[in-house]
Amino acid sequence: MKLLEYEAKEYFKKFGIPTPEGRMVESSEESRAYVEALGKPVVIKVQLPVGGRGKAGGVKFADSPSEAAVVAEELLGMTIKGLKVKKLYVEEKIDIVNEIYLGVTIDRNRKQHVVLASSEGGMDIEEVAAMAPDKIVRFYVDPVIGLKSYHANFIASKLGYRGGMMRRFAAFVSKLFLLAFEMDAELTEINLLVEVKDGFLAADARLNVDNNALYRHKELGKRLLDSYQGELTEREMEARIQDLTYVELDGDIGIIGNGAGLTMATLDTVMLHGGKAANFLDLGGGATPERIGKAVKFILSDIRTKALFVNVLGGITRCDYTAEGIVAARKELGINKPIVVRMMGTKEAEGKAILKKNGIDTLDSMEEAAEQAVILAGGDQ
Ligand code: GDP
Ligand code: MN
Repeated sequence: MKLLEYEAKEYFKKFGIPTPEGRMVESSEESRAYVEALGKPVVIKVQLPVGGRGKAGGVKFADSPSEAAVVAEELLGMTIKGLKVKKLYVEEKIDIVNEIYLGVTIDRNRKQHVVLASSEGGMDIEEVAAMAPDKIVRFYVDPVIGLKSYHANFIASKLGYRGGMMRRFAAFVSKLFLLAFEMDAELTEINLLVEVKDGFLAADARLNVDNNALYRHKELGKRLLDSYQGELTEREMEARIQDLTYVELDGDIGIIGNGAGLTMATLDTVMLHGGKAANFLDLGGGATPERIGKAVKFILSDIRTKALFVNVLGGITRCDYTAEGIVAARKELGINKPIVVRMMGTKEAEGKAILKKNGIDTLDSMEEAAEQAVILAGGDQ
């Protein structure tokens, strides 16, 4: 989950990371009023979950309340990388002494956090990495020891800081690491980190929280849904709320699989046989009859779905549970759309028997099942 800059900065403040004074606004009037109250020149930035806003024209300066209104009006009318601008962050403009980059991410190969720091902030860190890799300090954090103050001091000294500035930068690094750790961040990044006369300020803020850890950050759940607004269809939103992995497409065959690989292969096979998927839903591993029933109901209730193809490889997921789920969902909905099931593996015989008793045949070959699904959906595409 990618937090917007203003949301990330709320967390920065919580963790004691200094940021310039600022506020999120949603109208030019709010922008004007805030700058009037602040009484300082400002930078106004679009709030979108994409990087490179500056280059895309989404970062502008304003010296007066009236200018802040004009700039806000202009930015609120913009569409950047396909996303409409709805929110802005208005922030006091900082006089920059030096532009620094600081980030914490996870190196998945090493299974370690890594702190990245560079004195070449402001521009794309990927560019710095390509052109001047020696300008980036990488510090791998030992998961047992953690990031100690002497590690942070070492990072600060590598960037050339000494004395008081070294201690201040080190404190900054320590706080950002703590934030990354506590918030289960996949990435937290400050580009630009501004060196001012007597310290440092996070002028930009990025915080991407691992979706798998959202259960530990309940307050973010609602924001996650909000952040999908405009990106997902209504049914896709509903699926998230019901905790289903569901993607809408524009055909007429509903697809349910277990595991991303099998689900994708099922989509491909249907396409290969001249069909078009209306959607697909990945059950994941070890689904209960209730969960499978919920998934089947979700797909069958989509009016565009003319036929449903369930492709399950029984491992942790049991074929009998799958069958029970399908049967229960169909009964509950009372929808008699054709269902094609291909299942094999754990409790296969039991699963097939349950389906057979309820008038649903199973096929053993994925190809044949796909072909059947295409025929049942009408085959008129
Ligand atoms: P990004 O393009 O999405 O990374 O947005 P940033 O918030 O990093 O802003 C882009 C650029 O605008 C920065 O690299 C700076 O050059 C400039 N900028 C942003 N905030 C300030 C500020 O407070 N003072 C000054 N002088 N420049 C700023
Ligand atoms: Mn930036």
